[in-house]
Amino acid sequence: MVSEFLKNVLDTIKRGVELGGFPEELYKILSKPERILIIKIPVRMDDGRLEIFEGYRVQHNSALGPYKGGIRFHPKVTLEDDIALATLMTLKNSLSGIPYGGGKGAVRVDPKKLSPRELEQLSRGYVRALYSVLGDQTDIPAPDVGTNPQIMAWMVDEYSKMAGRNVPGVFTSKPPVLWGNPVREYSTGFGCAVVTREAAEKYLGGIEGKRVAIQGFGNVARWHAYWLQKMGAKIVAISDTSGTVYDPEGIDVELAMKVKNETRKVINYPKGEKIPDPKAALYVDADILGPDALENQITMENVNKIKAKIIVEGANGPTTPDAERELAKRGVIVVPDFLANAGGVVMSYLEWVENLQWYFWSEEETRARLENIMKNNFLRVYKKFEDIKTEKKDIVMRDAALVISLERLYEAMKYRGWL
Ligand code: NAD
Repeated sequence: MVSEFLKNVLDTIKRGVELGGFPEELYKILSKPERILIIKIPVRMDDGRLEIFEGYRVQHNSALGPYKGGIRFHPKVTLEDDIALATLMTLKNSLSGIPYGGGKGAVRVDPKKLSPRELEQLSRGYVRALYSVLGDQTDIPAPDVGTNPQIMAWMVDEYSKMAGRNVPGVFTSKPPVLWGNPVREYSTGFGCAVVTREAAEKYLGGIEGKRVAIQGFGNVARWHAYWLQKMGAKIVAISDTSGTVYDPEGIDVELAMKVKNETRKVINYPKGEKIPDPKAALYVDADILGPDALENQITMENVNKIKAKIIVEGANGPTTPDAERELAKRGVIVVPDFLANAGGVVMSYLEWVENLQWYFWSEEETRARLENIMKNNFLRVYKKFEDIKTEKKDIVMRDAALVISLERLYEAMKYRGWL
């Protein structure tokens, strides 16, 4: 029995292979990971008990370069979901134009229930168990749900101790003092903003003065809003679990960030209208919408309430496939998640390049490089989308992105002689 999530990912690849006219063998090779590792990590707990945690590293495809993808610490992880996530990383990294294959790791644990010492032991144990298959030229993990720069610092330390030398490029999203980069904190939201600006340029005649509603105010959402405001857009709505703030005159994003940091609730923002429903941000009058909080937010139940003309998916999977088709019928453009929110992994790539050469760019220089890559990625997908749209009517931008991603993988595997 294949999990629903993995089935959906495999169906996506199947559709892309058909749409792009690739040989069936491309699906065959991408439907199975190259290597799956299941590990047991023993941790001596603070109360003296020995606990054994199960962990995984899925190395899905290495045609384009080292495996790359985060490590998730979560009580509900399963191997099948890890395989699905690793497969999605192969597609995302290929689309992003960076020299990486796809991978993903996980440990079944609730990190909130561990003491800092236990968490450190678990993180180091993960590296010890996988040492021989990780490396700055082979497999380069990063944080995901439940992991963070501190955990990456412990991991890079453990790996370096085992190697007998510093190996900064084996993990990314490290603290800046340990060979990380300050742009990382806002890289995903910044990338979303660049893509939004480019989409507005193509479909709305520019970003200046355009009204933007953002669902969420976490890491992705706040920086998406912050950079768009800097680019000249007017942020008219933001939200979190406390509710939605709506102000057609424009929200001061920096002030909202201060309020959120101090009070943990966005509705304590001093101006605008306060709506208790956190989903209300999706429905306000706006030109552009950033669903930047969670998956499955725009569905057949509420799709008719959406007023925006462009949707830029900051979150993973916020629009269901049927809702996306419905939006397409109304001429609404949905910029897909694996294009829009790739700023984090592109930043990881830039950090790795810095690490390999032991030479570090300034924050501005790094940001300019990130901007350039994100802009070109959007323009490639836009062009492909407009090209195929003329032949095939019911196409969405996600399909064009998928075909570009598969094209690159196909070409690499063909040259390598795998296909
Ligand atoms: P986060 O935990 O920092 O923020 C999530 C925010 O959503 C919080 O502010 C929370 O209050 C809010 N929220 C929760 N339920 C809501 C609701 N029903 N309506 C409105 N707001 C709600 O998480 P994040 O890192 O910003 O990630 C958000 C999404 O982006 C996830 O889907 C994640 O997988 C995806 N993503 C994140 C990154 C990254 O670099 N952080 C990269 C790629 C994709």
